[in-house]
Amino acid sequence: MKVTVLGTGYVGLVSGACLAHFGLDVTCADVDGDKIDKLVKGEIPIYEPGLEEVVHRNVHAGRLHFTADVAGAIPNAQVLFLAVGTPPLPDGSADMRFIFDAVDIISENHDGYQVIVTKSTVPVGTGAKIESIMARKHDRESYAVVSNPEFLREGSAVSDFMHPERLVIGCDEEKALDIIMRLYKPQIDQNVRVLITNRVSAELIKYASNAFLAVKISFINEVSRLCEEVGADVMAVAKGMGMDTRIGPRFLHPGPGYGGSCFPKDTRALLDVGREHKVGLRIVEAAVMANDDQVQRSLNKIQHAFGTMEGATVALLGLAFKSDTDDVRESPALKIAAALLDAGVRVKAYDPAASQTALRELPGLEIVNDPYDAADGADGLVVATEWNEFKKLDWPELKKRLKRPLVVDLRNLYDPIEVREAGFTYVAFGRP
Ligand code: NAD
Repeated sequence: MKVTVLGTGYVGLVSGACLAHFGLDVTCADVDGDKIDKLVKGEIPIYEPGLEEVVHRNVHAGRLHFTADVAGAIPNAQVLFLAVGTPPLPDGSADMRFIFDAVDIISENHDGYQVIVTKSTVPVGTGAKIESIMARKHDRESYAVVSNPEFLREGSAVSDFMHPERLVIGCDEEKALDIIMRLYKPQIDQNVRVLITNRVSAELIKYASNAFLAVKISFINEVSRLCEEVGADVMAVAKGMGMDTRIGPRFLHPGPGYGGSCFPKDTRALLDVGREHKVGLRIVEAAVMANDDQVQRSLNKIQHAFGTMEGATVALLGLAFKSDTDDVRESPALKIAAALLDAGVRVKAYDPAASQTALRELPGLEIVNDPYDAADGADGLVVATEWNEFKKLDWPELKKRLKRPLVVDLRNLYDPIEVREAGFTYVAFGRP
């Protein structure tokens, strides 16, 4: 089966490489010529564990191709995946420019029977709009539009795609469904749960899932505030809550707020869909507001711990929005760094993968090579991303390097007793 993936970013490249791994003939097409040039040379433009190997293996096997000629990649493909970006507009709604540009290219070059599959996260009703664009020029029998939202997580994207928890397929047409089921046969054979539903429901499942997880994160962040007032330990509270299988332990970890290219934009876009249909989504609204507060709350914590920020140097560990990625989109770590720089603070930052992407956004950062370089001469350490390599630090060495033994742990990574016994002042969220 020939497949073309339009958009070769985090989702498109991983999806394309993994589909090729499952034996399909895949072309990844992108309008970004530089990105394609890199891929053609064998360079992987993003940091994603395990991705390089899958890409190289499948390129060598002749099953994975890259092209900047998007139009040329449309004919002959039986399935066309839309994996272009849907970034937020200033009013919170999704910017659908890239989707509709891509659909125009498909419409211009449509050939034979083709299934257009939306993998990008799109507002409810997008499938119907795509269908009507196609209907302007083409016989309704010659194409189908399917919603197949992607749930992979950056940092574990390859294994998430190869062994998904669930496949959601929004499709009402038997012929198209049969093609999609054949395409996903290797995953389905692993007993992956498959939900086949109508297209609008599939579109909404993605937004509702991300919004629900965002609510869970904002909920525990608010509980951590209360913990600080009443002397409770949020880690114990979260653990106790998570033991209830109705609640579950995941996404109950306090931190500087959710970030990344999905939760902030998808919660806002869902609110926009609610507004459009005159349905108030007050819980999601509250989660968004609580999350916005969390960056300020992180900054207040830093300021309070440091005493004064005037002339201060902060050793910042972590810039990515979470561990195992170089993605800094909506990263709370980057927002904190930006606010510190604005306040005239010197920020010595270290991140195992995101230093360069962060530097492009914030040229004022001083990038160093490891946590100990960051600590050299700094007034305190701020941990903003939960990378594994930050979980075990050499406290005596850090103490030697820092001007003063202070740790502001915005990810609640450490055992407060251990850090305090090492002679540090330790500040975290919701811990006595
Ligand atoms: P990205 O920005 O990394 O990649 C998008 C790519 O699309 C870019 O390389 C861009 O050049 C390309 N593009 C734009 N217009 C194009 C066109 N007309 N033809 C071909 N290529 C075009 O975005 P991403 O993070 O991969 O996200 C893509 C979509 O998937 C978004 O809707 C996002 O919400 C969703 N999603 C993302 C994740 C994630 O973890 N990043 C997870 C699930 C779903």
